[in-house]
Amino acid sequence: MAGILVVAAVTLFFVTSLFGRIWCGYACFQTVWTDLFIACEKIFQGDRNQRILLDRKNSFEKYWRKAATHISWIIISLITGYGFVMYFNDAITLPQNINFGVLGWIIGIAAATYVMAGFAREHVCTYMCPYSRFQSAMFDNNTLIISYDQKRGEPRGKWDGDSSKKVGHCIDCKQCVVVCPTGIDIRNGLQMECIACGLCIDACDNVMKKIGLPTGLIRYDTMAHLLDPKPEKKFKILKPRTFFYGAILTAVCAIMLKSLIFKSKLEISAIPDRNPLYVKLSDGSIRNGYTVRVINKTHQKKVFELSVISPQEAILKGSELIEVQANEVKTVKVFVIFPQNFVEKNEEGRGLVEFLIKNEAESKKVEAVFISK
Ligand code: SF4
Ligand code: SF4
Repeated sequence: MAGILVVAAVTLFFVTSLFGRIWCGYACFQTVWTDLFIACEKIFQGDRNQRILLDRKNSFEKYWRKAATHISWIIISLITGYGFVMYFNDAITLPQNINFGVLGWIIGIAAATYVMAGFAREHVCTYMCPYSRFQSAMFDNNTLIISYDQKRGEPRGKWDGDSSKKVGHCIDCKQCVVVCPTGIDIRNGLQMECIACGLCIDACDNVMKKIGLPTGLIRYDTMAHLLDPKPEKKFKILKPRTFFYGAILTAVCAIMLKSLIFKSKLEISAIPDRNPLYVKLSDGSIRNGYTVRVINKTHQKKVFELSVISPQEAILKGSELIEVQANEVKTVKVFVIFPQNFVEKNEEGRGLVEFLIKNEAESKKVEAVFISK
């Protein structure tokens, strides 16, 4: 799990250094679910202007449209919650095994989805998400970002087709600001709030098409290309930062792959009893209790022989043959008895006992502490 998180983090750094915040704009759960909720809102209440008009009404139409929107949000939220718990339960038998714990998780995740995607929306990106705070550390002049071409756009002003007038291509219609979910003006440069959703690009391109100017006043571009618009500066994939993140990513993936390939299919642990730590028997010997857990990660049932191989004087009492079903964990209780002469020689009053489980094909050892004083 830790390895997967490290790979995810380094991949995020690697991709961000190349393409900016594409995670935020296209893959982040918050963005995807918010878009889904907005789509439902649009289906039942129309676009922004229609929603403003609807809010001013006090009619049956307003209430059924609002209710339909919220019902669709609740259904999506419940499906999300149910989908989430399926990752941690047997998906096929889950409907028959829903208990209060599972139900609590479904309702909790559904409520979080409903609030985050239905109401908090871009405020999560602006005020709650830590990623936006440190993303700039991964950017350089060759990172693709959503950029406004100041050279082409400024000075802003109305465009009437008269090329002799000294105005830039930005007609200051503010469509890019209106569509921005985080409410920023990208013409002021790259800002922490920008989630790279690209809506301002589409809005500006539509405006440019209507007034007969080339599209791309707002576009994906690099700072290096904006400052010096030569074709070779458009997008540079080979740069020190890319190599650095790429090398870390390759190393982490190689370590993960190695541990996955050589992962043992058999695991054993032995946990000493805490209460009592030991029991003195009538013949002067000492008995320690252990809980032995054997994990069989194969698809076949296995039978193992359990023994104590060190110290030699130790005697195992309890299950010596352990049968573990395929993909199951078997827990057995065993005792290890240390004879009186061994206990007297062991002045420290503690040491290590070594268990061995084996069958014809495999074996595994594990150590645990014993206490005799
Ligand atoms: S949409 Fe384009 S033209 Fe309109 S204000 Fe924004 S940058 Fe300027
Ligand atoms: S500035 Fe553009 S890309 Fe950034 S969040 Fe606003 S609309 Fe999306």
